[in-house]
Order: sequence, then C-alpha cells, then structure tokens
Amino acid sequence: MQYRKMGVRIPWEASALGFGCMRFPTKKILGFIKKVDEAEAIRILRYAIDNGVNYVDTAYGYHGGKSEVIVGKALQGGYRQKVHLVTKLPMWKVKVASDVEKFCREQLKKLQTDHLDVYLFHGLNKGRFQLVKELGLVFEMEKLKQMGLIEHFGFSFHDNFQVFKEIVDYHDWEACQIQWNYLDQDTQATTNGLEYAAGKGVAVVIMEPLKGGRLANPTAEVKAIFDNAPVQRTPVDWALQFVWNRPEVSLLLSGMSAFAQVKQNLEHASSSGAGKLSAGELDVLKQVSDVFRKAILIPCTACEYCMPCPSGVAIPRNFAILNSYSTHEDLKRAKKEYAKLAKSKDALNAAKDNGMAALCSKCMKCLEKCPQAIDIPGTLEKVNAVLGGTVPIEQAFPKED
Ligand code: SF4
Ligand code: SF4
Repeated sequence: MQYRKMGVRIPWEASALGFGCMRFPTKKILGFIKKVDEAEAIRILRYAIDNGVNYVDTAYGYHGGKSEVIVGKALQGGYRQKVHLVTKLPMWKVKVASDVEKFCREQLKKLQTDHLDVYLFHGLNKGRFQLVKELGLVFEMEKLKQMGLIEHFGFSFHDNFQVFKEIVDYHDWEACQIQWNYLDQDTQATTNGLEYAAGKGVAVVIMEPLKGGRLANPTAEVKAIFDNAPVQRTPVDWALQFVWNRPEVSLLLSGMSAFAQVKQNLEHASSSGAGKLSAGELDVLKQVSDVFRKAILIPCTACEYCMPCPSGVAIPRNFAILNSYSTHEDLKRAKKEYAKLAKSKDALNAAKDNGMAALCSKCMKCLEKCPQAIDIPGTLEKVNAVLGGTVPIEQAFPKED
C-alpha cells in the first residue's frame, strides 16, 4: 500500500485507497428487498484493513443509517486502532447549533468509538454553507475538538467551483472531500478546485473516482481506445491511476461492494503514485473522456441521496437504464429492463422503490437532494418517453453541440 500526506494540518498519512462505506455488499431477503450482507461487509472491510487500508469513510445516512453500525462492528477486535475513522454530520437534519454535538455523540455510539479522526460537514453546497455560517457551526466543530470527540474536521462538497472556493476561503480547513475523476475535471469542484484547496494546505479526499461505476463499463468505442493504448490496464485501473497521478490528491475513496473488487483495488493502489502517467497515457484518457461525454446523457452517480421517492420510483435505476441505452445503443434490451420495473402502485407493494419513471407524480421532493443538480422529474419524463414510448433518444436528449 502507498501512503500519502493529508495536507498540512493533519499529521498522519492516509492509505492511497480509502474504504467508502456507502456501497456495502447486499443480499436479497424474500427475493426482492435488498439488505446489507453484514457478515460479508465486515469481512471485506477487515480484509482491506489487514492489507494496508487505514482510512474508513462512512456517513450518518449511508445504507439508511446502517453503515455506521456495521462499521462499528467491523472495527471491534483491535481494528479501530488500525484506522482513521471518518464520518459526516447530516447537514439536512441540522436545525440549531447544538445539533452538531448531538449528532456527533449519536454517531460515536453507533460506531462504538470515543472519537472520530475526521468529522465532515456532509455535502456542503451553497445553501448548506449558508447554514454553516448562520449557525456558527465551525465554532461547534472546534468545541467537539476541545471535548476530544473529534481530532480534525472539514467538509464534503457538491456544487460548483465558485461555491467551493468561497468555502475553502472561509476557514483553515483540515480536509475536504470532492467528486473528481477524468470526466469531472470541469464540473463540481473541478480541477481548479482540487489545486486551489491543496494549495491552501487542505487534505483533498476524492470520492466517485469511477463516477458511480460508470467508468468501469466502457463502450465498444472506449474499449477500442484502451486496447490500442501504449499500456494495458483495466478501465477501473485507468480511472483510479488518473486520480492518484495528481500530487494534490491525498487519497481516493472506493465504495467497494465485493471481495474481488477490494483485492483488485488493493493491487491498483500498490502500483499508484503521483506523476506516474506519461503524456501518452493522459492522452488516452482524454480520448476516452471525449467518447464518454458524448454517450452519458444523465450524470447520475447512483448515490441514492434522492431516495426513497414517495411514489416508489427507482430513480437511479431508471437513469442507469437510459444511460446504458445511450452508451451501448441496445434499445431492445433497455426497453426490456425498463419493463421489468413496477408499472403501477399495486406492483410497488410487492417491489418497493422499484417503480418506473412513469410513476413520478412530480411532487418535487427529490429536487433539492441531487448533488449532481439533475432535474429529476423532468429527466424521468424524458426517460419514460424514450423507454416507455416511442420518442427517439436524440429528440428527448438533444446534443448540446
Ligand atoms: S418528483 Fe417524482 S421522482 Fe421526485 S420524489 Fe416526487 S415522485 Fe419521486
Ligand atoms: S438522481 Fe442525483 S441524487 Fe439521485 S441517485 Fe442520481 S445522482 Fe444521486
């Protein structure tokens, strides 16, 4: 395992690969309800730690609140002492300043620990940053430090560069967590944001290095580019090495959900390093991102922040099917997948949160929740027009250029 500096204010080094605990392995109960496979989750997390991963990232809301509990169990038996444990304050639940200590104590209990190594404001954007300022929440974080409940604090982020810069300039942060990968260089915090935060000594942790798994599944065109590259790697390795290549990056988080994935990522991490990719290799990724950009019509990362939907619409699944059609051009298969989703409220009773786009009632409850700023109801309408109707994809999703 490679270890990397955590900016200038955190004294320890983090493993290049961090374990993101939002996509633990799941199993089906009664044939359709997906639950976390706790034993397997604990096994793969401990395996990663045994093989050098020392950074474990969870959050209040992951797996409907279960992630922190499972992480707490996994870190028993001496594992807690081997890792830097990170979780996040659920900003959408914070109403008064004292909520910071209240949630922190609740999370410590779930995690079965007496302190957090890093505590992050979860998902800061323009609105949530306003709340941080209005309620003086940085001061509340400082109080947690004095009480010995946390060692360091920072924020995770979903918005644009202007907002990111404003937040970075607000405080001498110890860490931040941003979405960055070879397709997101100009979106979210952007490469400028990565450089800006690192330049101010903030440890930069990267999430979504595979853009919600999208970069792991190349189209035929992308595959051909990789096949002709001067170096042979899997699409996952290409994407991860791109992130590790930047010296500004402290570590990347992978939401690992299978043992094989953990093993592969450990191997990728062991060969990682800043400045390792040649100009030719970076050019390969430039070509690949041009192809992906044209094909991925909906920038959904399957984070599930928009879920559950009161009408039972399986929002990320609907978007994944449409994207799969736009990248692989197999309309018949996409329509078949779409038809498997629940078509009516009655069907939803047997398959919760498995509804097709057509069931969206436009209640607008999901709108504020999407970190990718997707117009969810409007996009679902287009998905249904293409996959449930006869509207051509080019008409529903016209190309910008
Ligand atoms: S707008 Fe549609 S998709 Fe969003 S929460 Fe309401 S019903 Fe669900
Ligand atoms: S629509 Fe937005 S909030 Fe919902 S899963 Fe996709 S990226 Fe996440």
